[in-house]
Amino acid sequence: MAFRSDYIWFNGEFVPWDDATVHVGVHALHYGSSVFEGIRAYSTSKGPAVFRLKEHVQRFLRSPRPLQMKIPFSQEQLEQAILDTIAKNGHDSCYIRPLAFRGMERLGVDGRACPVEVVIMTWEWGQYLGPEAITEGVEAGVSSWRRMAPGTLAANCKIGGQYVNSQFITMEAKDRGFVEGIALDVNGFVSEGSGENIFLLSGGRLHTPPLCASILDGITRDCVITLARDMGYEVVEDMIPRERLYSADEVFFTGTAAEITPVRLIDGLTVGAGRRGPVTAELQDRFFAITKGEAPDQWGWLTYVNE
Ligand code: PMP
Repeated sequence: MAFRSDYIWFNGEFVPWDDATVHVGVHALHYGSSVFEGIRAYSTSKGPAVFRLKEHVQRFLRSPRPLQMKIPFSQEQLEQAILDTIAKNGHDSCYIRPLAFRGMERLGVDGRACPVEVVIMTWEWGQYLGPEAITEGVEAGVSSWRRMAPGTLAANCKIGGQYVNSQFITMEAKDRGFVEGIALDVNGFVSEGSGENIFLLSGGRLHTPPLCASILDGITRDCVITLARDMGYEVVEDMIPRERLYSADEVFFTGTAAEITPVRLIDGLTVGAGRRGPVTAELQDRFFAITKGEAPDQWGWLTYVNE
């Protein structure tokens, strides 16, 4: 499962992996002016299927708006390009990374004169938070780094430069012996992980921070809210003070890379019984049955590559 495949889609053409390079003068390298997506294609009996393709491409086209950067491809073109890249690379399942960035023209902070370059990379990638994370759960810690304050950056957009904050969070967590960090927002309420949204179960009800807690509007978060409500659970989007993490019955992360990952220990304190909880397991079962094409795709979340 190397970080590699045969071809990269580069501004509409397929380029061999090793030839997909840029100049050191590209604006994005200096100022973080890029946007990206993380998407998964799952293996099914009908071949690879991309999970929530439409919503990921919609977010990809929406993310650069505060940067005044326009991606020179349409929703339909990008959806097709993603399917074509998976087919060209012959993947059965993969991670998909669309990236758009300001290229090279001149070097000043205002990069609006620079061309916008677009690439799509795919490669085969397993469990993001480790091989046992999905069943055994992970250890996390509350980060000393806060998420970006409202009116500073654009938490709801996947802008490259903003992921310096995510790097601070995840590096600190690993240095402290955790798999992932949980960041608070500027007011001290729970926000999210470095690349995951977070849910907690308390009194039989699921809670997750609202969009105003400096989170990314995660697509997996939306899946979990949809599935949980369909399964009869009440889901509330509300501000969560840090201390409620320690008294929760279950906690889990959601994200395209992390999927649904239980958190069994936070800051050395056990969450619930200290292992994956029953509601987390039930949600995982429903989620993976859909991604594998084994359960009815009642919300139209799968796009088959070979259809
Ligand atoms: N928060 C952040 C900061 C992220 O980078 C991600 C990954 N895209 C998520 C949450 C989860 O979002 P999604 O479920 O759409 O992958």
